[in-house]
Amino acid sequence: MRVFVIIPAAGLGTRMSAGAKKGSRPSKQFTELGGAPILIHTLRKFAGSNQVSEIWVALRKNEMEGFRRQVDRENLKKPVQMVEGGEHRQESVANALRSIPAKDDDIVLVHDAVRPFIEVEAIHAVIAAVKKSGAAIAGVPAIDTIKKVEPAADGAVITLTIPREQIVMAQTPQGALYSVMRKAFDEATADGFTGTDEASLIERSGHDVMVVMGSARNIKITTPADMELAEFFLSQKK
Ligand code: C5P
Repeated sequence: MRVFVIIPAAGLGTRMSAGAKKGSRPSKQFTELGGAPILIHTLRKFAGSNQVSEIWVALRKNEMEGFRRQVDRENLKKPVQMVEGGEHRQESVANALRSIPAKDDDIVLVHDAVRPFIEVEAIHAVIAAVKKSGAAIAGVPAIDTIKKVEPAADGAVITLTIPREQIVMAQTPQGALYSVMRKAFDEATADGFTGTDEASLIERSGHDVMVVMGSARNIKITTPADMELAEFFLSQKK
């Protein structure tokens, strides 16, 4: 049984460069953190796992050549392949899923390029849970109370408070057996369904998805404030 890791890294990261002209800054996954692009930090984590077989990165076409040079300089211990990303994260992952030479009982993990603080223990916990149950993600309990709202004249009005004990904030990696992930993606494509993560597709295809403990450090770098936190996490490690 082999483990394929798919890293969708084809986003524009417009929330990172609020006010900046499109294309005038690197996409957020290429923003430098401690002297290396965020995506390279993420790759190092997966390359450092003895359970991972191959890493596939979905990229925008114009970023592939430069990225290949960066990866070659890194001398990572795993093969890193590239595939062209799509308009949405789901399309980027779907393109990679079609390209990987996986068998039905191999494992596929999908991990956001912009979560460089993933720990190898969490990667292995997701792999173990996929082996046991067929599909699993990393998640953390909700800290804030979550409200369902509806638009109102002055902003939003609360329609429901969801008990916090029932809420988990989904992180990545999100993994499944290749057969389970492929079925979920094929059905979503056939139905025209777009989800914001892999689990939502697997859930709707009728397969249970287990949650294992992620970590508060496994942040998704999205806004400039997240970069400050990321610099702090990095400085702590030295
Ligand atoms: O868009 P979001 O913030 O959810 O992005 C999560 C991950 O998906 C990022 O690593 C981003 O690069 C990736 N993505 C992608 N293709 C897109 C949009 C986002 O690979 N078209």
